[in-house]
Amino acid sequence: MAVSQEWLKTTWTHCLNIIRKNFVGEEVVFDEFFDPTKLMSIDDTTATITTSSKTASKLLSSNSNYSDMIISALKEVTQTSYAVKFIDEKSYKDFASPATSSSSNRMFFANSFLSKDYTFSNFIVGDSNQEAKQAAVLAVASPGTMNPIFIYSSTGCGKTHLLNAIGNAFKEKFGTKRVLYTNTEAFVSEFVKVARGNSELSDFKQYFDTIDLLLLDDIQFLKGKNETSAFFFNIFNNFVNSGKQIVITSDRSPQDLEGLTDRLVSRFSSGLTIYIKKPAPDTMLDILKVKIKGLGLKVDMFDSQVLDYLVNHNVGSVRSMEGDLNKLLFISSVKKNSGNITLDMCKEAFADRDSSTQVGKQVTTDRIIGKVCEFYSVTESQIKSKVRILQVALARQIAMYLCRTLLDMPYIEIGKVFGRDHSTVMSAIHKIEVSQKTDPTLKRNIDSMSKELSSKTVHK
Ligand code: ADP
Ligand code: MG
Repeated sequence: MAVSQEWLKTTWTHCLNIIRKNFVGEEVVFDEFFDPTKLMSIDDTTATITTSSKTASKLLSSNSNYSDMIISALKEVTQTSYAVKFIDEKSYKDFASPATSSSSNRMFFANSFLSKDYTFSNFIVGDSNQEAKQAAVLAVASPGTMNPIFIYSSTGCGKTHLLNAIGNAFKEKFGTKRVLYTNTEAFVSEFVKVARGNSELSDFKQYFDTIDLLLLDDIQFLKGKNETSAFFFNIFNNFVNSGKQIVITSDRSPQDLEGLTDRLVSRFSSGLTIYIKKPAPDTMLDILKVKIKGLGLKVDMFDSQVLDYLVNHNVGSVRSMEGDLNKLLFISSVKKNSGNITLDMCKEAFADRDSSTQVGKQVTTDRIIGKVCEFYSVTESQIKSKVRILQVALARQIAMYLCRTLLDMPYIEIGKVFGRDHSTVMSAIHKIEVSQKTDPTLKRNIDSMSKELSSKTVHK
């Protein structure tokens, strides 16, 4: 959507008026965080909004009440649902210099820019992500050597962070070379816009010739987008043929990407494919400390039990840990607390949570296997062996199925746990999916195991 500065300004004034009128919460919050915001740009899917500080960006994006207020005000004014993206003014100025195509003034990817906050130096390395970090460094040290670099993980494990870190380091090293970082949803929407008016397609193609490094986030969103996929296939080949680096991220492995053509999947697998595991608690603690320092705060302002609390209540999920940190800081600032952040404050902030600690209750492959073994009276070594006795085989298939549904694990990783290959795991899981439809007892049993595994209280 091509909109003028004037339009952006008026729209935003209307939105802020609506938000102010309906604001539930303290006035000071509105004045501090909402009032200084500006609507900088808008495309088919996303509105980019600047804030007065990084903390304000974090607060507005992590508090769903606040972002919902903004989304619904925008909807009221524009009659359109937009996703919102927050960035602090300073970073926006530094990075919002979207590239224009060489042959026209048409702007592509006006809402796509690197985030300066995500760098290699504030990316913590642990066992879970060491290889991914090495691959990312390689993309900058020796672009085009491994093409593409394909990084996948479940959500919140640092893919977007790494992609941006690559982009930032690349710019630092190569100065004038051009980087495009974009989410796949934005890529699809940009392509659709161009495809509607055919004349621009050649501009769009040329635009990619001017890009030296392509960082494409969340490729799983290409699913079912056949025309965009076909276009991307060409772009991809051009990049590889001219030795320019492509780095792709995904929430699953190339083989597990459904709704994508075989030729794309095989291209994706032909470079370097790396899985980021969920970070262990000690890595989470290191990440937490870096995040605290990144907000300009001192780590010793937090009692050590508070840090442990934040890690233990968000096992494996950095994003939710950050959300909790922001919530805690926000509550402490509203209460004008200037001393240490104590465990009591922390407990109060999260009083609405299950009061029992969740440590050790997180679903893990071990707990899944334990539960299934108990249910079917088989042993762990049987389940991991090649034994084909009916009862053991069924238990094994169910355990694989639960690893997939409860932990969202890639087939390959499930295979490693059970000593099987990717396709065996896939067909086992498929079999359970199908059998459940015709066998209500099986379905009931699986549902009950699944429920017990995911419930917050431990069942002895
Ligand atoms: P993903 O894209 O995999 O869903 P993100 O890159 O958005 O995950 O990470 C979520 C948050 O966690 C970000 O704020 C990111 O900086 C942080 N994070 C994740 N892994 C690390 C790490 N290893 N070091 C520092 N921060 C991390
Ligand atoms: Mg991401």
